[in-house]
Amino acid sequence: FTKPFIEAIEVLNQIESHAYDAYFVGGCVRDLLLKREIGDIDIATSAPPSVIQQIFNKVIPVGLEHGTVIVRHRHQSYEVTTFRVEGSYSDQRHPDTVEFIQTIDQDLKRRDFTINALAMDKQGNVIDLFDGRSDIENKIIQTVGNGYDRFMEDPLRIIRALRFSSQLGFSISPNTINDMKLVKSEIENIAVERINNEMTKLFAGDYIEIGLNYLTDTEVYQHLPIMNDHPNIIELLPKNMQAIRSFGGVIALFHFLAPTISIKKWVNEWKCSNNVKNEALILNDALLHYKNCGLDRLLVYCLPRNYYQVFSELVNMLFNQIILIDEMEQIDNRLPIKSKKDLAITGDDVRELFPQLKSGPWIRNTLAAVEHEVLSGKLKNNKMDLKDWIKWNPHVID
Ligand code: ATP
Ligand code: MG
Repeated sequence: FTKPFIEAIEVLNQIESHAYDAYFVGGCVRDLLLKREIGDIDIATSAPPSVIQQIFNKVIPVGLEHGTVIVRHRHQSYEVTTFRVEGSYSDQRHPDTVEFIQTIDQDLKRRDFTINALAMDKQGNVIDLFDGRSDIENKIIQTVGNGYDRFMEDPLRIIRALRFSSQLGFSISPNTINDMKLVKSEIENIAVERINNEMTKLFAGDYIEIGLNYLTDTEVYQHLPIMNDHPNIIELLPKNMQAIRSFGGVIALFHFLAPTISIKKWVNEWKCSNNVKNEALILNDALLHYKNCGLDRLLVYCLPRNYYQVFSELVNMLFNQIILIDEMEQIDNRLPIKSKKDLAITGDDVRELFPQLKSGPWIRNTLAAVEHEVLSGKLKNNKMDLKDWIKWNPHVID
């Protein structure tokens, strides 16, 4: 057992001390067997949510109607879900009904892929009803039960198969591929936010080339926003495609390769958050600037540090050039100012220099011109020099 499991065993112990069963389940068991870094630890239990709420002090009821709560224990979060079976998915979004059950067997059967349908008790005994372990060994993704039915129930599983292939480097079994092809058009009925969530993970996968190959071979992309109207867009992706850790980076890349599709359109059709939108816009500016001017002070000034990594990866893919994060940090450390706020003058100072003028956009424009001069090193950032420069450069007032 690795450290996250050792801490989580205390949660299993507490549930079991109240005479209920509890197991580690799903991705964390798969990743433990693969010796891969564990994402979250999910727990399945026979205890109903109301009992979990009584056992633990801090419980967040995130999905009570599906039997899911988050237990906070020693500053860690665990998703604890009561064993359940699901009714039919008439809307292909949520099961119409869920029924809580006493044993884990049926609960494992509702899970998407054999590699995800594993449970493990606190001694490390694995419950493996669908040969998930041998599929992990052979690096194969296949559905639990009939793929056609399971994909019809929840078509998101089609995208999930692709994202697991991209994250794990596994192949998808021929039968499962076949069923994905049969059901793929049903993807259009599911919420874009769910698709976005899985596709973000697909693009961030260590084996992204495998994931993208399946995405094109199965023609699943024909049922995704934007890609449906621009079927050639995936072929534009660079040959040396690497993991892109954020969807803002994905949009910036696509927009660079196909500029006629605006970032706004990407953001709207893929229902992205504001964070993703801002990241895409900033990365796009940086890529265009890089194309024209290379890596200079202005670029580093405009690019927040948390985007250095994704930016350098995009540059590597698009221009076949290597930018070291170190290099960017050194430029950043030597910048005379980090933001407009660091300028030695303010808008008020600028206005006072020309008392005869009404305030207006000229103030902002003047500050922008000053900012540019300071950054380029032509002007020292102190009040006297800046005021002097503004007085002698009245053109900035226009
Ligand atoms: P990750 O490491 O990316 O979190 P994961 O396998 O834990 O991967 P989750 O999306 O967190 O994936 O889901 C947790 C588990 O719940 C899965 O391993 C699977 O057993 C089950 N599951 C999740 N989504 C579905 C679905 N749409 N249909 C069936 N089972 C699902
Ligand atoms: Mg998970």
